[in-house]
Amino acid sequence: MNYVSTRGDATPRRFCEILLEGLAPDGGLYLPERYPQVDAATLARWRVLGYADLAFEILSLYIDDIRPADLRALARKTYTADVFGTPEITPLKPIGTGLWLEALSNGPTLAFKDMAMQLLGNLFEFELARRGETLNVLGATSGDTGSAAEYALRGKHGVRVFMLSPNGRMSPFQQAQMFSLQDENIHNIAIEGVFDECQDIVKAVSSDLAFKRRYRIGTVNSINWARLLAQVVYYFAGYFKATKSNDEAVSFAVPSGNFGNICAGHIARMMGLPIRQLVAATNENDVLDEFFRTGTYRVRGSAETHETSSPSMDISRASNFERFVFDLLGRDGARVRELFGTQIARDGAFSLDTAARARLPGFGFVSGRSTHADRLATIRSVFRECGVTIDPHTADGVKVAREHLQDGVPMIVLETAQPAKFAATIIEALGHEPERPPTQEGIEALPRRVTVMAADVRQIKYYIETQVE
Ligand SMILES: *Cc1c(COP(=O)(O)O)cnc(C)c1O
Repeated sequence: MNYVSTRGDATPRRFCEILLEGLAPDGGLYLPERYPQVDAATLARWRVLGYADLAFEILSLYIDDIRPADLRALARKTYTADVFGTPEITPLKPIGTGLWLEALSNGPTLAFKDMAMQLLGNLFEFELARRGETLNVLGATSGDTGSAAEYALRGKHGVRVFMLSPNGRMSPFQQAQMFSLQDENIHNIAIEGVFDECQDIVKAVSSDLAFKRRYRIGTVNSINWARLLAQVVYYFAGYFKATKSNDEAVSFAVPSGNFGNICAGHIARMMGLPIRQLVAATNENDVLDEFFRTGTYRVRGSAETHETSSPSMDISRASNFERFVFDLLGRDGARVRELFGTQIARDGAFSLDTAARARLPGFGFVSGRSTHADRLATIRSVFRECGVTIDPHTADGVKVAREHLQDGVPMIVLETAQPAKFAATIIEALGHEPERPPTQEGIEALPRRVTVMAADVRQIKYYIETQVE
């Protein structure tokens, strides 16, 4: 299997060549040159597999430069009951007629990003050892991504993590999760500034190509292909749990921000998984909902980007969206380059032409949005009706899912975080604290390992130099 760029660079690249990369050299995102097709016989064979073996089957359709025995071992090492809390890994729970919750947030940081990041950590370690290389992952986080990356890469050979976060601006729980890690290869850097300044520092360091090469700087951001691929697996797993036979269809509702999670659903559907609807649920930052309703994609400025009670979905642009548009436009890389490389940069927006608009319904997407009041009401109603506490991101998914229910088609809402991570909103909705998993009791009291620094690129570079050499 070869990978190509959404902006037209068709130089064939294998999986392990793009594993450690971010953007393609032409500024596009990587996608496989085609989607392997899964027929009824294959679905029947996969239906009975455990999660790790299912993951292996799907991964091996896209990865042909890691030996199958090694790949299977990596999948089995990643998806264990020990790491994900249950042998099922992503158990399904009913929350009303025709409505299911697929738990993706039982990993070490209690959010769905662990599902992909845990695999990425093992793939990185494997590939770096094979090459005899090391990598220094530099990232910026306002919460979930940074902690998922740190928990995936802690103690791994050949990798160091330098994670910038805005000092004092993450929730106390998120700070405790990250800063309590004592692993030598994890460096928490709290920047005196806001998240955008952290991100600007990462960009500045990464665009110094001499520094980047010398200190082997890499990233694990949401556009990484391997993360997307790992996420495809739980769409299949959820389908098998919600159905009894392969002639049934299901729909998925996905709390969306950067379009990474739901893009994996799109890929599963393109492979032939019987998905009727892909429901993109957004919060007040409704870039995606606007697109699916109107055919116009309009990125937002920072003044227009709202801080909400589902903060992991507070985005101004959806960084993985370009992948879907590439498929929607019949894989016309030149056209994608024009839209994302030129038009977005110039106008901040583009609108689909008539032909593309006509093709859109064929991809199964529908959408909706929630407000803070909607999420509170949904948290309350799911708690009253089913005794289940859901987090504000998942509440957004449930709210929009209910608007798109169809008779006879199970609707699976992806649960993207545990309520314990967002205690303040749960108290506001229910009047009491959410329960905490026993592993997370008292983490605020643990000793912390964090360096506070000014928002100064030179100081960050100097810090990296002293740690690496
Ligand atoms: C990252 C995240 C999302 C958004 O996922 P995307 O892949 O960016 O669409 C939703 N909910 C939670 C809890 C997250 O951490």
